[in-house]
Amino acid sequence: MSKRLETEVWSLDNCAGCGLCVAACSKQVLQWQSADHPEVVRPLKTVGYSKAPLDSCSFCEKFCEEVCPRLDRWAPYETRAIISATARGPVRSGAPNDVIRSILAAGRTTGLIDGVIMLDLDPWDLKPVARVASTIEEIVDNVGPQYLWAPVFEALNDAVYEKGFENLAIVSTPCSAQAVRKIKSSKNPRLRTYQDAIRLSVAVFCTGIYKPEIVEEVLVRRMDVARDQVKRLEISPDREWMRAVLWDGTVRTIPRQQAESYTRPGCGSCDDYLGESADIAVGSLGAPEGTSTVIIRTRAGDVFVRNAMQMNLLEATSNVDTAALEAAAAEKDRRARGRDFKSLQILMLDALADPAKREDAVQQFVRLYRTPVRPGIKGSARSGCTGC
Ligand code: SF4
Ligand code: SF4
Ligand code: SF4
Repeated sequence: MSKRLETEVWSLDNCAGCGLCVAACSKQVLQWQSADHPEVVRPLKTVGYSKAPLDSCSFCEKFCEEVCPRLDRWAPYETRAIISATARGPVRSGAPNDVIRSILAAGRTTGLIDGVIMLDLDPWDLKPVARVASTIEEIVDNVGPQYLWAPVFEALNDAVYEKGFENLAIVSTPCSAQAVRKIKSSKNPRLRTYQDAIRLSVAVFCTGIYKPEIVEEVLVRRMDVARDQVKRLEISPDREWMRAVLWDGTVRTIPRQQAESYTRPGCGSCDDYLGESADIAVGSLGAPEGTSTVIIRTRAGDVFVRNAMQMNLLEATSNVDTAALEAAAAEKDRRARGRDFKSLQILMLDALADPAKREDAVQQFVRLYRTPVRPGIKGSARSGCTGC
């Protein structure tokens, strides 16, 4: 069993829900029993007249740890360009999903990619689902909202091993882009097939994702709206509301206070709003009305965005409110400290029982509360007196 996932991710409510560990598990013993994190399900083995749980993880190379983005800290990729963009084509739109559709449709047309894995919403039962799309029509139809959770990498093995895609784009949340970065940086040759198959990661700006139960418990039961009455779900860019637009034209709104308790626990300590590990990150923050902000962070991202502009599927200006993006990055620091504090608490509890861990706890305390070095103050970072 993966002790690291248990102690450093799941027990600290840090699981991002990407599902890459489940996809990469060689023995297929990881399963989703709840939305919070996957669990190891130990198959039973017959021993004489009785059955004993089989420890499938003993002789495993721990692929689950090898791919989990939450076991590492990720410095942001450097930003190559920030633009505000509008999708062109049959519909002119500045919505983030439409901008992403344009970039992917252009990439598919010119053969830069042969498939896309993304989250979508089943229009009949409003359940989020990970899909793989290959034609332009499928790509345009299937890039769905990224604010109802499903493990996006649930579709990975189907795309790579069943359908044989070799140049995939992954569209999802920033944490899933971190997962792509993690698997791409692995030295394990047995993960090479995944590494080779993923060509582009696109992240949507994200401050949290809701558990799918919100639809049944709030919309259906509390608001008395049947699933088949709903034409589409929408969320405000600042997440102040989520609303259901019904087929009869009326709108039912779920206010933030009601929706907040359905946010996945792993989002509470997430420190990446702006897709800092994605090739391209897209969102409305900082963009003028009718456009989306597009942050290009890698050469691959640059190639895809230029390609969409050359095909006249994307129109761009440099008119972005970068101060708004910087404010979001500052909020990230606050959450990162929250996450560090949580792991310090666990370490301190461990240290009570195991004196060998006390030095680790002290070191982590110092790291968390040390005073940053400022110009004009000599010496290294200090943990106590600020020298005021
Ligand atoms: S240790 Fe191996 S078998 Fe066990 S959950 Fe991780 S990948 Fe799967
Ligand atoms: S963050 Fe992703 S890889 Fe890590 S435990 Fe959660 S689902 Fe698995
Ligand atoms: S806030 Fe967004 S990026 Fe962060 S863990 Fe939640 S879904 Fe992932």
